[in-house]
Amino acid sequence: MIELRSFLQGQWKTGAGRKATLVNPTNGEPVAETSTEGLDLVAALRHARDVGGPALGAMTFAERGEVLKRMSKALHEVRDQLIEASILNGGTTRSDAKFDIDGATGTLAYYAGLGKRLGDVRYLVEGEGEQLTRSPRWWARHVRVPLRGVAVHVNAFNFPAWGLAEKAAVALLAGMPVVSKPATSTALLAYRVMERLVEADVLPPGALSLVCGSTGDMLEHLGREDVLAFTGSGSTGTLLRGLRNVVGRSVRVNVEADSLNAAVLCEDVEPGDEVFQMFVRDTAREITQKAGQKCTATRRIFVPPALIDSVQQALVEELAQVKVGDPSLDEVRMGPLATRQQLEDVQAGIRRLLDAGSRRVTEDEPRLHGASRDGGFFVMPTLLRADSPRDAVAVHEHEVFGPVATLMPYGTAEEAVDLVALGEGGLVSSVYGSDADRLRTMVLGLAAHSGRVLIGSKKVADQATAPGMVLPSCVHGGPGRAGGGEELGGERGLAFYTQRTALQGDRPLLDKILG
Ligand code: NAP
Repeated sequence: MIELRSFLQGQWKTGAGRKATLVNPTNGEPVAETSTEGLDLVAALRHARDVGGPALGAMTFAERGEVLKRMSKALHEVRDQLIEASILNGGTTRSDAKFDIDGATGTLAYYAGLGKRLGDVRYLVEGEGEQLTRSPRWWARHVRVPLRGVAVHVNAFNFPAWGLAEKAAVALLAGMPVVSKPATSTALLAYRVMERLVEADVLPPGALSLVCGSTGDMLEHLGREDVLAFTGSGSTGTLLRGLRNVVGRSVRVNVEADSLNAAVLCEDVEPGDEVFQMFVRDTAREITQKAGQKCTATRRIFVPPALIDSVQQALVEELAQVKVGDPSLDEVRMGPLATRQQLEDVQAGIRRLLDAGSRRVTEDEPRLHGASRDGGFFVMPTLLRADSPRDAVAVHEHEVFGPVATLMPYGTAEEAVDLVALGEGGLVSSVYGSDADRLRTMVLGLAAHSGRVLIGSKKVADQATAPGMVLPSCVHGGPGRAGGGEELGGERGLAFYTQRTALQGDRPLLDKILG
């Protein structure tokens, strides 16, 4: 049994007392255990603020970028070991593990490049400034300086490597030290990531700490210059942003939560054409990649009535090709869900959608490769169909966090937007078609309800990234149910970790001060 430790105050520390057990989701067997009982997590926050903050604050963006570059390289060097940890404790296929791990190293490398571009400065100046009165000397500039506190990152179980790295990359580049907490159930991979970063000695002192297990009362000690970035369920997000000290001390909070992402096929698409094929390929991938345990996975599929039977047939055929089973086998394309709790939640979620007016159109017969249903947490790719989308209320309000999506008809472009909006705010919507007039109504309508809109059209059918792929250069987050947060987006992501301040003064003097 592997014993996970936490990396606090520059040292590995082992918790005492009752330990949480991490299992292999393919067979349910225990693989690791961890506890934070007895660890002084409040002292860890202080250490980050007092040691990590000044160390990062003394560095320029270019120097912090160098740190991120070394982190990315150090992790890439042990890619195979990280993949093994992901398969063992996350139940991911090799391809799903790479999605997480390469996403982590890629995001670190992207922000390393941004640091290089921002150069040898320690603060950001926005725009040329503004004249404030008739006098051309009385001037204002807006600057961004790093907050002096600590950034606490609480992550979901589904991306232990990317979740840690994407948040840390932005905070460290901005100049804030990080205390990162992976979800306990799949923390082995995050632990291996941290082990490697410590071993490679690439981090400034106090810049990054890792909490493997419960946060205890740590979050109740966040103060006015600290920030909290959370990814997970809407209910935990609501709880954390409502903490007394968080509200009372105006601790900045970013929440990335649930999302009923939608894919919409336009009327101008013909069965079998390249956009149709792209739509089917993307949608099947979104249902099955990481066994549907992606915040950006497609949950609702909207198709014109004339195309719905062709889409159903194509998706059922595509999903039938997906071999499910032991994720360490080369031929297996979808592994188990990450935990027993996940299995129970997904099974209950499917029942809820069926009770609310959907029917199953894929087979439920388990055909597992190299694994058995006893012990393993398997659910087959599941396509449901609801012919009266407005009556199937649960489809628009309950996120089944597994390989499950519901196919529904829509009439006009305006109706498609209204149906997507029933999800009350999502991370990503995708629209497939090539007619600009039709797309304009759809895309601009969907933009109000989505953090990102992907347009799949003829000319990019063979080169577009999938809707579920989060890229560091584009914002990640969404309104309403999705948490109302925003991460990444290149330089935009730095805003969360910095204070924007208006400097008013004599224009030449301001120019001299800012260099
Ligand atoms: P979760 O149960 O809310 O847990 C998320 C994180 O919060 C875990 O690290 C968990 O730690 C921690 N946590 C739970 N209760 C806490 C408390 N009282 N105090 C401090 N920390 C606490 O969510 P999950 O099951 O891991 O993730 C699934 C959900 O996340 C899905 O609904 C999905 O939509 C959402 N998600 C959203 C995004 C996005 O980017 N928007 C990405 C991925 C997932 P423990 O594990 O130690 O309990």
